[in-house]
Amino acid sequence: MAVAVVPPKKRSQQTLVSKRWVFLFDEVEQVEESLGGSWDKVRALLGGKGSGLFDMTRAGVPVPPGLTITTEACNAYLANGGKFPENMWDQVLEALKEVEKKAGKKFNDVENPLLVSVRSGAKFSMPGMMDTVLNLGMNDTIAESMVKLTGDERFVYDAYRRLVQMFGSVVMGIADEPFEEYLTSVKRARGVKSDVELNADDWKEITAEFKIIYRAEAGEEFSQDPYHQLELAVEAVFKSWNGKRAIDYRNAANIPHDLGTAVNIQTMVFGNMGEGSGTGVAFTRNPATGEKKLFGDFLMNAQGEDVVAGIRTPVPIAGLEKENPAVYEQFVDIASKLEHHYRNMQDVEFTIERGKLWMLQTRDGKRTARAAVRIAVEMAQEEVINREEAVLRVTPQNVIQLLHPQFDDLAKAAAKKNGRLIGTGVNASPGAAVGVAAFDADLAEKWGKAKRAVIMVRPETKPDDVHGMLASSGILTSHGGATSHAAVVARQFGVPCVCGAEALNIDVRNRVLTVGDLTVREGDTLSVDGSTGEVFVGEIERIEPNFSKETYLIKLLSWADTFRRLGVYANADYPVDARRAREYGAEGVGLCRTEHMFFQEERLPIVQAMILSEAGSEEETRNLEKLLVFQHDDFYGIFKAMDGQPVIIRLLDPPLHEFMPDHEQLALRAAGLRLMGDRPNELTRVEELMHAVEGLKEFNPMLGLRGCRLGIERPALTAMQVRAIFEAACQLQKEGIQVHPEIMVAVTNHENEVKIMRELIEKVATEVMTRTGETVVYKIGTMIELPRAAIIADKMAEYSEFFSFGTNDLTQTTYGISRDDAEGKFLLDYVERGLLPSNPFQILDEEGVGYLIKLAVERGRKVRPELEVGICGEHGGEPNSIAFCHRAGLNYVSCSPFRVPVARLAAAHAALKG
Ligand code: PEP
Ligand code: MG
Repeated sequence: MAVAVVPPKKRSQQTLVSKRWVFLFDEVEQVEESLGGSWDKVRALLGGKGSGLFDMTRAGVPVPPGLTITTEACNAYLANGGKFPENMWDQVLEALKEVEKKAGKKFNDVENPLLVSVRSGAKFSMPGMMDTVLNLGMNDTIAESMVKLTGDERFVYDAYRRLVQMFGSVVMGIADEPFEEYLTSVKRARGVKSDVELNADDWKEITAEFKIIYRAEAGEEFSQDPYHQLELAVEAVFKSWNGKRAIDYRNAANIPHDLGTAVNIQTMVFGNMGEGSGTGVAFTRNPATGEKKLFGDFLMNAQGEDVVAGIRTPVPIAGLEKENPAVYEQFVDIASKLEHHYRNMQDVEFTIERGKLWMLQTRDGKRTARAAVRIAVEMAQEEVINREEAVLRVTPQNVIQLLHPQFDDLAKAAAKKNGRLIGTGVNASPGAAVGVAAFDADLAEKWGKAKRAVIMVRPETKPDDVHGMLASSGILTSHGGATSHAAVVARQFGVPCVCGAEALNIDVRNRVLTVGDLTVREGDTLSVDGSTGEVFVGEIERIEPNFSKETYLIKLLSWADTFRRLGVYANADYPVDARRAREYGAEGVGLCRTEHMFFQEERLPIVQAMILSEAGSEEETRNLEKLLVFQHDDFYGIFKAMDGQPVIIRLLDPPLHEFMPDHEQLALRAAGLRLMGDRPNELTRVEELMHAVEGLKEFNPMLGLRGCRLGIERPALTAMQVRAIFEAACQLQKEGIQVHPEIMVAVTNHENEVKIMRELIEKVATEVMTRTGETVVYKIGTMIELPRAAIIADKMAEYSEFFSFGTNDLTQTTYGISRDDAEGKFLLDYVERGLLPSNPFQILDEEGVGYLIKLAVERGRKVRPELEVGICGEHGGEPNSIAFCHRAGLNYVSCSPFRVPVARLAAAHAALKG
């Protein structure tokens, strides 16, 4: 115990200037005033839950009276090495007197006892992360007197045993199992299934046994002093800020570690005082779909944790109307007022005590990506928020989740036919997950970190399981509803989840899931459909999402487009990619990697023959003629799909050996042929090929004969590509399609490289245009992929109408790190050890690579003010890097077609956030 229990002092006895560590729920005005009217500061001081209670009290919502100890007190306690700050405890006791007056009951009073809840509440909601103790203030004498007062022995001992268990677990760190196991054994002995069926004597007996368990586990008696209970509980909440699960959660949700938590001490109201009482949680809109309809669960004759923990399966909120129409109406009214007041979807907790409705909590509700988008759009349409706010409320991560693959309906139907559908539960968090079953959080985390897709399988989840849930691809539970812990956490982090699949028998001890005759063992594959609640054994095929059906997202992105300054292009190599890119809202093709076309099966032998032929030879010309036909069709298709929009085509980039067969394979084949000795011509062919491959071998192909170096050394190849581009462009122009080709030269280092390539391109372009009688407006530009190119960008700009930053190569060459070699070996270790803040191949390194980009933009535009600049490395689809591109004044970002919606939103965020 850190501080001795002291009797409450009168207000006048306190030093006048002493710091306020404690506030009453109805003191919101004072707090706000002392913080200069900043609600953000009020939230920081009182926590999200506390400030919500203060605000609700002010709004006239029925909130049980209480007090809040500030986050500053928590920080002072932790900084003090676990000592309450000076005066804090006196202030708690004094405020408690005020609460007693309001509640008409007294703490530690036998005649008319006040019980309280003690809950944590940080600035940002951390559901289930911090500790809560209910029914605090009971002891043996008070319990007896409460029996007399309420005439309800069953209720009293049910409440008392909960206190012993929760206090034991939260304050003394006793595991839940011994309590749960004993409770289960009593139920089994009585032949009943649920807690509700146990009677007063049972609960009395359970309370007595819980106290014995408590003594055995904690090594001391359960405290009979309510003040002592209160003090220890407050300390436990403070300490839980630095508990493992809280730290894990903050790391995952990017919440700073120095905020501290507030403690809310509030008058208990009881949902378990018989049939006229109940408790529930509800969202003002559906948190899975976003539909504007009250959504939630309640249970009559129960306490809040029964709903949240998923121990009893609750009833949908609409059922409350039948149960108590007056209370339901009042509840609907308050819910709608709260939503308007906070201008956001609310997640509310309520209790009905003998027919009277109490609101215990309200906060912005966690929601799925789909719900986030719909709620933002509809709230803007209802004029509750404006369009900027709507756009800012949806995160790029939401869009990524929304466009996740879904299960293929046909594959699902076939699986059902084959009896692979093993159960259905609540569709708690949408998405299609396939992975191996893991029956505990630690294993799920271990496998997840080893890049194995995992489905975490538990009867229900608890806050201690969060690290495993975050590492899993999907979550499956057999108990609990749409507001259970598993469901809430899964939705927040976008992990597909099915919960309450009651038909599944999940045996954690033996690490098996059984249903009928079927047994799923740890490591077996499961498919979980969080959108429908279905669970399958084995893998179900997944397909790409259907963007055109996402009407709310399409609307939101159309608003985002009005705010962003950056253009959004796509990297597309084939007409089908270009069409998809356009459907997703791309405004051009920022990179067409022509070499991908060369890899196609029917073309590769021609490409190889062309490589093997001597530069300038007739054979080279013959093979290039054949390739020209293919290339013409490729470009024709892409230009047509992008009618009216720019298409940036990059001339061949990779080293030639990438197109050749593997040397070892050839050597093996030659050895075989030699042994057989019956096909001398074939042997000669293979040996010649081997010789050619040897000749192309480079020590550092990434830094070898590639990009423009290749184009300069094999001018006929460059000429063929340019001819294909312009013949396709001229033909389309004739057909009435608008074409805007931009030819891009890769891996340039010196302005002379751009100059010579430019001359070649212009020569061929002019030839084609003269021959066809068409004039196509086009641009020639260069990629900036090497530090030298960035540094001499002014010289590069003399021959370039545009720059495109190839940040994949620019990152490799700036760091001197080969991505393919590094990521599998040391790079991720570097990130884990904090040597690098993040993987620079994923999130653009602003300090180094970003510096070069800014330098190149500045120098390039000095020479050519209208220079068009964009980015086409993978960073072009990554939100943080997009924000950088906005700040660096780029004209556009280019990313994979699937990333285009994310980039549109991220670019709007960058513009709105400034
Ligand atoms: C780059 O280097 O960023 C780029 C787009 O080119 P590639 O990835 O094809 O090397
Ligand atoms: Mg490159």
